[in-house]
Amino acid sequence: MATLLDGRRLAAAIEQRLQTVIAAGRAAGVRPPGLAVLRVGDDPASGVYVANKEKACARIGIENLGAHLTGDTPAAAVLERIEALNADPRVDGILLQLPLPAGLEEGPLLAAIDPDKDADGLHTLNLGRLLKGEPGPRSCTPAGVMALLAEAGVALRGQRAVVVGRSILVGQPMALMLQAADATVSVAHSRTADLAALTRQADVLVVAAGRPGMVGAEHVRPGAVVVDVGIHRRPEGGLCGDVRFDEVEPIARAISPVPGGVGPMTVAMLLVNTVVSWASRHGLIHGLDDLLP
Ligand code: NAP
Repeated sequence: MATLLDGRRLAAAIEQRLQTVIAAGRAAGVRPPGLAVLRVGDDPASGVYVANKEKACARIGIENLGAHLTGDTPAAAVLERIEALNADPRVDGILLQLPLPAGLEEGPLLAAIDPDKDADGLHTLNLGRLLKGEPGPRSCTPAGVMALLAEAGVALRGQRAVVVGRSILVGQPMALMLQAADATVSVAHSRTADLAALTRQADVLVVAAGRPGMVGAEHVRPGAVVVDVGIHRRPEGGLCGDVRFDEVEPIARAISPVPGGVGPMTVAMLLVNTVVSWASRHGLIHGLDDLLP
């Protein structure tokens, strides 16, 4: 039976650490950390994600300085809002919730976010910092995966890691983080020939393909560690991942569930990026470097 990579439990433990850091700063007379989640339009899934992020902020004492703009807001007005948040001294983190309504181009708006307030860690400069091993906010989902692996004591040095997916949001930064931890990394994508032959070589397999139930027992070497990033709503209700959990769990050494695996870790890492930005701004020691791969 595989060890469960329990993201809910680890996210709760990280929130406790963050609360301690925030309490120390507040006791020293520093204002609370501030996160601005900027939502444009009414994408229903985004509504749930934004609410989860706002609740998490409230739980640990991060001030919510976000805004919800209507779907017909012109790009210039969204840009103006981002620039105001960049200049606002109460704001330590900014997150532009995607997807944006049709007609709004995300590239120029994401690029306008101050890289040091980039709570999502997806600004071009921050991806470059990750590539070069320089400090900076890290992409939340892959950083969350790294924390889950570390918590479970999964050694990466010299191990064979395979990442399925090459998106800028997940696959690419994931591969860079695993490589920085001295794993030997292969990245698979929709044009990879004989995916199962590649994934069966993995000691650590991270699946971020966005295809429900795509990975089964035939893709996994017995004893491998499997992390499922995918998240999908089942037509019959409930959530599932990219991995067929029931098939893979009996042969894996460790596996992350969906829900309750990577999802909560993504939110936790958003909070980490915000608190680290806040602490750095005020010259506070945060002790959170182990969470910034
Ligand atoms: P994405 O932008 O659609 O990228 C999917 C990647 O998977 C692409 O690189 C694609 O290859 C590859 N792929 C698709 N089908 C494949 C196949 N049959 N074999 C091998 N590779 C295949 O998706 P994403 O944003 O990275 O997200 C991936 C999944 O993670 C989604 O289910 C998303 O909802 C979920 N997600 C979860 C969280 C969380 O917090 N849990 C956060 C972010 C994303 P090509 O490049 O060749 O098209």
